Parts: sequence; C-alpha cells; structure tokens
Amino acid sequence: MMGRPEGLKLIDENGRRIDGRKKYELRPISMEVNVLKNADGSAYVEWGKNKILAAVYGPREIHPKHLQRPDRGILRVRYNMAPFSVEDRKKPGPDRRSVEISKVIRGALEPALILEMFPRTAVDIFIEVLQADAGTRVAGIAAASLALADAGIPMRDIVSACAAGKIDGEIVLDLNKDEDNYGEADVPLAIMPMKNDITLLQMDGYLTREEFMEAVRLAIKGAKAVYQKQREALKRKYLAVAEEVAGNE
Ligand code: ADP
Repeated sequence: MMGRPEGLKLIDENGRRIDGRKKYELRPISMEVNVLKNADGSAYVEWGKNKILAAVYGPREIHPKHLQRPDRGILRVRYNMAPFSVEDRKKPGPDRRSVEISKVIRGALEPALILEMFPRTAVDIFIEVLQADAGTRVAGIAAASLALADAGIPMRDIVSACAAGKIDGEIVLDLNKDEDNYGEADVPLAIMPMKNDITLLQMDGYLTREEFMEAVRLAIKGAKAVYQKQREALKRKYLAVAEEVAGNE
C-alpha cells in the first residue's frame, strides 16, 4: 500500500484491471510437479509473473538432534527470494519479511500433515521465489503443498491458497504488484478444501467488516480454483508414470 502516481486508475470504465482482468479473475496459473531430481518432492508454479520453485525433503533425521520430538515429526519451512526476483535487486539472505512469511507458511501447511506418524524426524520445505509480482506467499503455499504430495508425504488434504483485496474501492481477486502497491487492502488466505478449514488468513490495509467478509469469500473461491489446478498437476504426474510403466512392459 503506497502513495500512487497521480491519475493512475486500477479499474477502468469498462471494469477492466490494468492487466486486462475482470474483478473476479485469477492471473494465468501453471503448475508442474516432480521438477527436481535431487529433492524427495518438488513443484514449479507460475502464477501471473510469479515464478516459484518448492523442494521437499523428508521425513528425515533431524540435525541438530535436540530439535527432535519423541512423539512427532517437525515441519521446517524456508521461504527465500532470489536477488534477481524483484526490480531493484534484493539483498540475499533472510530478512524480517522472509522469516515472517516462512513462519506463516509453516502454519498454513502444518495442519495438513500427519506428523505424529514420523516421530524424531523433520520435513523440510524450501520455497525459492525466482520472480515476484505480489501473492508470493499464496503461490508458495500452493507450490509447497504440491511438493509435499509429490514426496508422498501423508496429508489430510492438499493446502490451497489465494488472495483477494481492495483496489479503487472494489473487492477483487488475486492482486498483482501494482494493485498491491497502490490498492487499499490485501487478504491472503489458505484453505484445506476437503476439510473446509482455513489455515492462513492475513490482512494488510483497511477494510470494513463487510468488505473483509466479501474478500474472504472471494479468496476462498479463488483458492478452490487453484485447488483444481493442483489436482490436475498431480494427475498429470501419475499419468506420465503410468505411461512410462506401460512403455516398459
Ligand atoms: P506477497 O508476495 O505474499 O504478496 P508482500 O505483500 O510482502 O508478500 O509483497 C508483495 C510483493 O512486493 C512481492 O510479491 C514482491 O513483488 C514485492 N517485494 C517484496 N519484498 C520486496 C523487496 N525486498 N524488494 C522489492 N520488492 C519486494
């Protein structure tokens, strides 16, 4: 939320946004699983101009050992932005924002994992933002959830995520960078669609109670559409495996 250039309109007289989308339209999204040879599970997500890679290891032995829990496994998440991911080069390494985002992503994913099945171990998730254009935490959650499924880690549900927000006085789906910068509010959300559970809900900016509820409803709809894309990406992987098996017979 920044002071906007004078005269800039985020929604035109035809109801179109600066990238041509309608109010309730998602950016184009493409997803692929099993993209890295050396991780147990991985996924690559393009979501508008966002480009995000997620890698999963585990459940595996924990170092340092004092972090082990005798009754359950632990989940560790590192969200990282590449120096070249934003317009002005980002200083490499963790900062306050990435530490906070890592923590909220862990909170969004943990309810889906059955960590009691794996005492004394850790599941490690690495989320690398190669290109950022707002909404990286929700795209990162979607990618990480796919990478967990790709690693074969037992889950109660696939976690899906999307944001809604307010620009030019209107509630819209899935803000891009300019809309995030010059808009009034952003509401990222993650859900476990089959369990009807919300695992992340944040708000940046100002909304009335009614607007907030409208944004939440819209973000849930968006996350459900993202969920379908996640399922399709996983299905494509298993179809490819089936074809490979058939080819070898
Ligand atoms: P999210 O990416 O989940 O929307 P934020 O709202 O914190 O998280 O960030 C919005 C966008 O601002 C990011 O997606 C990115 O495009 C941009 N951004 C974040 N941090 C930086 C940074 N250090 N330098 C330049 N741009 C950044």
